[in-house]
Amino acid sequence: MSTLFISQDEVRDLLPMSECIDAVRAALADLARGEGIQPLRPVMWLPEKVGALGMMPGYLGSIDTMGIKTVTVFPGNAGTEYDSHQGTVMLFDAGNGRLEAVIDASEITAIRTAAASAVATDCLARPDASILAILGAGVQGATHARSIPLVRDITEIRVWNRTRESADRLVESAAGNGAKVRAVDSVAEAVAGADVVCTTTAAPDPVLDGDLLEPGMHVNAVGSSVPFARELDASAMARARVFVDRRESTLNESGDFLMAKAEGAVDDGDIVAEIGELVIGSHPGRATDDEITLFVSLGLAVEDIAAGEVVYRKAIEEGKGVSIEFGGTRHD
Ligand code: NDP
Repeated sequence: MSTLFISQDEVRDLLPMSECIDAVRAALADLARGEGIQPLRPVMWLPEKVGALGMMPGYLGSIDTMGIKTVTVFPGNAGTEYDSHQGTVMLFDAGNGRLEAVIDASEITAIRTAAASAVATDCLARPDASILAILGAGVQGATHARSIPLVRDITEIRVWNRTRESADRLVESAAGNGAKVRAVDSVAEAVAGADVVCTTTAAPDPVLDGDLLEPGMHVNAVGSSVPFARELDASAMARARVFVDRRESTLNESGDFLMAKAEGAVDDGDIVAEIGELVIGSHPGRATDDEITLFVSLGLAVEDIAAGEVVYRKAIEEGKGVSIEFGGTRHD
């Protein structure tokens, strides 16, 4: 049986952000309708938590595809030649179990995460949102600078990063997309007057304080996917109406939520809805122009599978990837 291997460069070509936004939107809708399977991910940590191996299985009914992302996370890779997220997305035929595709996970993770934030922003940000603040100028900072302007008419992007050089690099790469893009020296300067704020850092301790949030803002909290790291302080969590990619994931994996909960700032009942519920219209989302909305993004396997299916389908259509006879035939 042949399996298609698809490289990082090919994923970049085959997965435009706009198509990924559509695929992730459909995947979150599947989950909300109960047509997806999304178990919690086992994560194996190395000693001293220098790195982790995450195993993320899932199934999507609407495209009848199951898969798994195996991803290593090495925050210390920042500034080296290695991405902090590496691995594979494997897709399997849900009818017979055949391994259909092995796809680079760095690029899928970079794109699908920003696509999920775009779906949440589309559901929750005020329709007239025009100023975007991005905290963190790594891989996710860059893809968020591309994804959010696809769902709102963004005229200004402000980038704050711990290291100014990375913010300047992001500004250079994002220039020319129609918005005014500039690096700023402080989180407060980035956030003041912004309509949409994306936190995309690997910071273990809060970078965004609740007292910086203003009425009507929408925040995408992306950078913390583990219970022991947080980008938002307890007051930021308490001031916002909290929307999530998946309740179960938030209650088990979100440092932003769990640490605020331990401090008594929020409770499980403060999770208003999953984004998929907004997509299918079973929850109205933002209630007033003044409220602060927050999307807690943990990252879901079904997002990887939805993005991977787009890549696989287009690779077949365009003759991309390398097909290898890999196994799976009977021996009798
Ligand atoms: P990168 O390694 O490319 O970038 C990391 C960024 O975080 C850099 O801007 C870095 O700044 C900044 N940073 C690191 N430590 C700190 C700190 N202590 N305080 C402030 N800023 C800091 O990583 P990615 O962009 O790929 O990922 C960013 C975060 O998002 C990670 O934590 C990752 O695990 C998470 N993530 C979440 C996903 C989801 O689905 N929710 C999916 C993928 C990633 P500097 O330039 O100064 O080093």
